[in-house]
Amino acid sequence: MKDLIFDNFQNAIDESLLRHKSILDILTKLQESESRINRAVVKSVTNCGCIKVEAKKQELPQENDDIEELSKALKTHVNGALCDNCREVIEREIGNNLFYLASLCNTLDLNLYDVFIKEYDRINTLGKFTLR
Ligand SMILES: [Zn+2]
Repeated sequence: MKDLIFDNFQNAIDESLLRHKSILDILTKLQESESRINRAVVKSVTNCGCIKVEAKKQELPQENDDIEELSKALKTHVNGALCDNCREVIEREIGNNLFYLASLCNTLDLNLYDVFIKEYDRINTLGKFTLR
C-alpha cells in the first residue's frame, strides 16, 4: 500500500519543477541544498549560539560488547537546543533538500515511498547492528 502523502508530494514537485528539469541541475541543486543545511546548523552555533558544539574524541567503554552501553557512551557533541528561529531555518533547508531528492526520484522514475520503506525494513531487520 502506497502512502498518499509521499506520492502527492512527489507529484506536486514534478508539476512545480520547471527551471531545474535537467538531471544535472537537480544533482547540483541537491548538493547545494545539503550544503545549505550544514550552513544553517553552523549558523545556529556561530551566529545565534542556541547550540554549541563541544567535541572531543569519543570515549568507548572498556567492555564494548554491549551495544546499549556503547550507544549511551557515544556523544553527539551538541549542547543546548535549537531556538525557534534556527529550527525554522533548518526545517526549511531540510524541506528544500527533500524537494530536490524527490525531483531526483522523479527523474529516475524511483518512488520515494518505496525507497523509504526499503530503508525502514533494512533498519528493522538489522536493528542495532546496522552500525552507521
Ligand atoms: Zn538559534
